[in-house]
Amino acid sequence: MTAHKPATSAGESAVSEQRSRIMRSVAQKDTKPEMALRWALHARGFRYRLHTTKVRGQPDLVLPKYRTVVFVHGCFWHRHPGCRYATNPKMRAEFWEVKFAANVARDSAVRAALLEAGWRVATIWECALRKPEKVAAAADQLSTWLLSETETLELGEREVSSPKGEGEDVSSCS
Ligand SMILES: [Zn+2]
Repeated sequence: MTAHKPATSAGESAVSEQRSRIMRSVAQKDTKPEMALRWALHARGFRYRLHTTKVRGQPDLVLPKYRTVVFVHGCFWHRHPGCRYATNPKMRAEFWEVKFAANVARDSAVRAALLEAGWRVATIWECALRKPEKVAAAADQLSTWLLSETETLELGEREVSSPKGEGEDVSSCS
């Protein structure tokens, strides 16, 4: 169950409003993009455990059968490189810089430890899950990867091919 707090009062400053809004979205575990991916994966026949504390870093999904963990990362909070959603707040820039650096360092340490322990690691950025057709495409790519021998996967909106081809043709890369 996710508790939704009422909208902040008009008296609050814009800064703390922005901050608390971001904090709230970050605190949510079952975010919409993650749930969309879960359902798509489930529909493709994959079974997983959620947020298990038994695996380092408490990955969003764990698929023991495939010795795989999946992280669904918010682009802002986890600093998706080069992503348009990884914006830099102008207010309290230093505060955010410290937060971001800590997040990136922790993600990287967790990832290294998991790989070291023999897990395969997939990172799905939320920008790849913003539209239903993108979710389907991401789930397809994730499914293919799960059945492969490849150790890591990283999917952002740039990596996920949209069937309708949103202006970009990704069919010929060779
Ligand atoms: Zn992104």
